[in-house]
Amino acid sequence: MPDLSTGIGSEALASELMSDQLANSALLEVRTRLAHALQISLDAQELLSVFYKHSQQLVSYQGLTYESSELDKVVRIGQRSLHRCHYTLSLPDSDLGEITFYRKSRFTESQQLILETLLASLAFPLNNAKKYQQAMKMALIDPLTKVGNRSALSAALEREHQLLQRNGKAFALIMLDIDHFKGINDEYGHSRGDEVLIQVAATVEDVSRGTDMTFRYGGEEFALLLSATGAAGGLITAERLRRAVEKLHIRVADKTIQPTISLGVSSCVDAREELNLVLERADRALYDAKRQGRNRSCCEPAQIYLDNTAKV
Ligand code: GH3
Ligand code: MG
Ligand code: MG
Repeated sequence: MPDLSTGIGSEALASELMSDQLANSALLEVRTRLAHALQISLDAQELLSVFYKHSQQLVSYQGLTYESSELDKVVRIGQRSLHRCHYTLSLPDSDLGEITFYRKSRFTESQQLILETLLASLAFPLNNAKKYQQAMKMALIDPLTKVGNRSALSAALEREHQLLQRNGKAFALIMLDIDHFKGINDEYGHSRGDEVLIQVAATVEDVSRGTDMTFRYGGEEFALLLSATGAAGGLITAERLRRAVEKLHIRVADKTIQPTISLGVSSCVDAREELNLVLERADRALYDAKRQGRNRSCCEPAQIYLDNTAKV
């Protein structure tokens, strides 16, 4: 608002009021268009691009960066520059990350005000993107053991198969099943059985490498997918898992449960082989391990064999 105490003439005052009104209506127009455009996406990167494009109509700046640990996202648009203004975005009960704008010359107060006004339109769409991402993640996680579920396994297998096609990198698959698990449930109860499932899954995750992926295939059966690994590497890992699970002592009142697992290994070295055949081979190897007495690892094809006393 113009300062009346400075004695600005009535003409100057009118023109200043006019330009204020114009600026306000331009801001309202851009804000409305922006709010509308932000409805089209649930992807943070896309939302930030839309914001960048629309806000440039009112404030000229060189670039922006956006970072959110909750959305696991870093977005960079345009270029960094000498001057910056920085905002923390949040809604009640929801952190939405940090945004920094870059400009060659200083941001004026009114430019900051415009960015702040426009940022208010970004908060709810970003929150929707965050909720969507969390829901997508949850849809791929087994709620009991917190490892990937069967849908996640299918997606990961597809990805490995494509990598094999493109880069020729083999992958191995281990199917593992808890031995006599029905007996554990029967003797100690279903909730103790659940505890065994949780601990076996955690052990598989602990013992495997960071690049290996653990999934609950169903019931008391798990799968481990090993990137850039052949059958021999798969069998070595299987044995390592078997030994680690064998060492578990799960306390139940005055008793101890010591679960064991049987494992079947297959690998895929030729992208022409269909994925379901790779799964079937691991499954047959698991069946062999059960048939041979449980608490052991088998491979299909069976040219690679380590008995359960072998040092690996
Ligand atoms: P084997 O050594 O041949 O694998 O025998 P098993 O007893 O482990 O196999 P079986 O298929 O006979 O039994 C599997 C049991 O797993 C039966 C089922 O009730 C139980 N189960 C499946 N899902 C869950 C679960 O989420 N929690 C609990 N506690 N038990 C489960
Ligand atoms: Mg079993
Ligand atoms: Mg089973």
